[in-house]
Amino acid sequence: MEKERVKCLIIGSGPAGYTAAIYAGRANLSPVLYEGLQPGGQLTITTDIENFPGYPEGINGTEMMEDLRKQAEKFGADVRSGIATAADLSKSPYTITIDEEKQIETEALIISTGATAKYLGLDDEKKYAGMGVSACATCDGFFYRKKVVAVVGGGDTACEEAIYLAGLAKKVYIVVRKSYLRASKIMQDRVLTHPKIEVLFETNAVGLFGENGVEGVNLVKRKGESDEENYSLPIDGFFLAIGHKPNSDIFKPYVETDETGYIITEGNSPRTRVPGVFAAGDVADPHYRQAITAAGSGCKAAIEAERYLSAKGLI
Ligand code: NDP
Repeated sequence: MEKERVKCLIIGSGPAGYTAAIYAGRANLSPVLYEGLQPGGQLTITTDIENFPGYPEGINGTEMMEDLRKQAEKFGADVRSGIATAADLSKSPYTITIDEEKQIETEALIISTGATAKYLGLDDEKKYAGMGVSACATCDGFFYRKKVVAVVGGGDTACEEAIYLAGLAKKVYIVVRKSYLRASKIMQDRVLTHPKIEVLFETNAVGLFGENGVEGVNLVKRKGESDEENYSLPIDGFFLAIGHKPNSDIFKPYVETDETGYIITEGNSPRTRVPGVFAAGDVADPHYRQAITAAGSGCKAAIEAERYLSAKGLI
């Protein structure tokens, strides 16, 4: 298998990866960045980004990621397409296999592979992606002011997203497949007593419809043991809040992760328990999951990588 040795390897091309590449490039670490499965990351599937400081008019997610890539390349980052398919972090230099055909040996590694929002798996979710389907209320809620939206899920995220959306929308439905919410008691109380929120228990979303975007959702309500009722509701936005999956599988044998798979780092730093291996962005963040927080942690990871390489006398 083809082999290559680098000083600093960054995996993932969301705001965390690109910011790490900008900092590592400016620090003369000659970073190599592999873009991963979804070049540009989750922001490329959202609508406009209006909450990233510095863009008073908002910016399209894909455009912003292209700008970040250009900025990283300007400072010497080598941005490549390819997916990390295996990792050996048992000894330094660490080995990452790309596309099962090339091995990169690196002294410092920044894991910024992100997290993937879970979807129900309906064809309509793909059909209406960016046209009324979203997995991030903070990102897209603003577009649903005075409109009607549905949030799927019964956990804390679903309740939090529903409350956030209720501050903007006219009406929010929460679609819960069980007869109870899994969320914490305080969040349950908040959604159940909120005048704009209606919780639809024992209900599954099975499809969406609309001409130029989402105009409604098809639902199935379970009634007793074997009875079901099919009906539809007019909505303008369909939000998924059924959990995220951090993209950490290949690193799990080496770094510490929580029960969902989020990489656990040391305090507020991006340091993992493997020296020279850092985790930045959503792959290590079950809480905030914002572009700006990911970018901030990418910056920290590059600074840590520089200090690590410098302490080893490699730069
Ligand atoms: P959870 O796993 O807690 O909840 C997921 C919800 O989605 C559950 O109600 C689950 O239903 C439902 N669900 C999963 N798959 C499907 C499906 N295919 N169809 C329909 N419904 C589905 O995820 P969260 O993202 O809500 O929370 C993750 C963790 O983060 C939790 O520990 C949570 O407490 C924490 N968190 C804390 C917050 C805070 O403290 N402020 C805010 C947000 C999250 P079912 O119950 O039937 O499995």
